[in-house]
Amino acid sequence: MVPGGLRCLVGGVEAAHDGERVPGATPRADVAVLGGGLAGLSVALAFARSGRRVIVLERDGPIGNGGADELFDDWERPGIPHFRQPHNFLGLGRRVLLDEAPDVLEAVLGLGAVENRQYELLPGDPESQDESFVSIFARRPVFEIALRRAVDDEANINVVTNTRVVDLAADHSSRGGSVRVTGARTGRGEEIEADLFVDALGRTSPVVSWLVSLRARPPLERRTECGLIYYSRHFRFRPGVEMPTVRSLHRVPRGEIGYMAFGMFVEDNRTFALVLMIPPWERDLRVLRFEKAYMATALSMPSLVPWVHPDQSDAISPVLPMGSLQNVHRSLMVEGEPVAVGIQPIGDALCHTNPTFAYGASLSLHHGFTLARIAARTDDAPGIARAFDAAVGADAAARFDAVSAEDRDRLRLWQGEPIDVRDPSDSMALFLRLTASMDAAKDPGLFRAVARCVNLLDPPDAMEREEDLIERARKIASEGAPPSPLGPARAELLEVIAAE
Ligand SMILES: Cc1cc2nc3c(=O)[nH]c(=O)nc-3n(C[C@H](O)[C@H](O)[C@H](O)COP(=O)(O)OP(=O)(O)OC[C@H]3O[C@@H](n4cnc5c(N)ncnc54)[C@H](O)[C@@H]3O)c2cc1C
Repeated sequence: MVPGGLRCLVGGVEAAHDGERVPGATPRADVAVLGGGLAGLSVALAFARSGRRVIVLERDGPIGNGGADELFDDWERPGIPHFRQPHNFLGLGRRVLLDEAPDVLEAVLGLGAVENRQYELLPGDPESQDESFVSIFARRPVFEIALRRAVDDEANINVVTNTRVVDLAADHSSRGGSVRVTGARTGRGEEIEADLFVDALGRTSPVVSWLVSLRARPPLERRTECGLIYYSRHFRFRPGVEMPTVRSLHRVPRGEIGYMAFGMFVEDNRTFALVLMIPPWERDLRVLRFEKAYMATALSMPSLVPWVHPDQSDAISPVLPMGSLQNVHRSLMVEGEPVAVGIQPIGDALCHTNPTFAYGASLSLHHGFTLARIAARTDDAPGIARAFDAAVGADAAARFDAVSAEDRDRLRLWQGEPIDVRDPSDSMALFLRLTASMDAAKDPGLFRAVARCVNLLDPPDAMEREEDLIERARKIASEGAPPSPLGPARAELLEVIAAE
């Protein structure tokens, strides 16, 4: 893909001169990015900084002015229903920013985000890899503001807002029987042309169905249930209150209580968020969407009290429910050949997994910069498809498989199956999540393995392949006291809620 002259073809209007932007028209881009969320913004930045002209087509409106708190409250993003849900930004994502766009990392921190230096929990001498064990605490809008402003500042990027992509155009004559995508149609009836289209439309991307209606061979699309309904709320520590100390990688209380789970997220500017999670069949606890039931539940979990007690913090959002969570994996490579070329899904359009694992933002950044690097080496469309699949395809598939397997086991546990989470032969996934991870700070080798895994710095099956490590983790767990319940029994909780 060699940058060519600026042939403008939007709504049939051609630009008069190379490089000139004509009012009412948009210059033909090298790369058209469909969707301007975390993946779309990352890939746009990556391509623009490697010298390509990029157009981003985004259904939502532009970003307004203001800092972290104003935009958290005011930035309307109906295209991203989970925009205000709590997010954790893992080591992989920070590493990509540090290597590829340090100015964005600096801007995120400048907005009040905080680096979580997980390695500070490690006993003994530091090792060089320990520097990778740093995640970022920020509300998602705050993270996205920094990325979006960097994109808006790039002369090579044209972000076209309030523009919905509704279909693709294709040429069927390409080599190897795959469809070649040549255009993206907008809701206003325009057709945008580019050499490469990036599907960054998120977890509900319709690109697979668009390709099928263009008579492409069916792409791969797999779905499994996460089996979770999220109820989240953001808080801010009251003046003078110190954040409670928790010696875990994310510095927060998290846990399972047999019929539901909870997780805290540290954020920017002294804010934090609590997520209460229930399985889809748990109808009685859907009252968690009401503030009184939510707060009574939170305050019935001893480890959450120092965070959400009204003496400690003020709520800064209503309860934000989020259901219908699914793991999704798509691939345009079927039996080693692309079913379509000239288009590449990235971010959630490629792979979306249970949000409690917090993979999405980091993978979006990783996919975006990887795709731009590959496209800088070749302009051959099938070559880009194959190289991208070789670089991230297997990883996306393996992460979908691993998360789906863990979700299956957690749902078996919640349905009452007698699974001992301290025994890896009962469920390796639950043993790693609920036992080995919790004990990580007791053993430097275990800590590093857990930190590599949690921060996406290792393949998903890396830990379970280390038999010695699993044995050590099992021994540490068997020597400790059996875990005490982290919250009330279900019947007791329902009574607490009813008394409100
Ligand atoms: C409840 C929840 C909690 C999460 N927590 C975490 C976490 O802790 N850590 C983490 O890393 N990840 C988390 N994730 C995942 C993370 O949010 C996603 O991985 C990330 O949003 C992926 O970015 P994306 O750009 O691929 O998709 P999105 O962010 O969904 O962006 C898609 C973009 O496309 C636009 N768009 C959609 N349709 C059209 C259209 N037809 N035309 C034009 N534009 C369109 C949208 O407006 C949006 O801007 C969570 C997800 C959920 C659901």
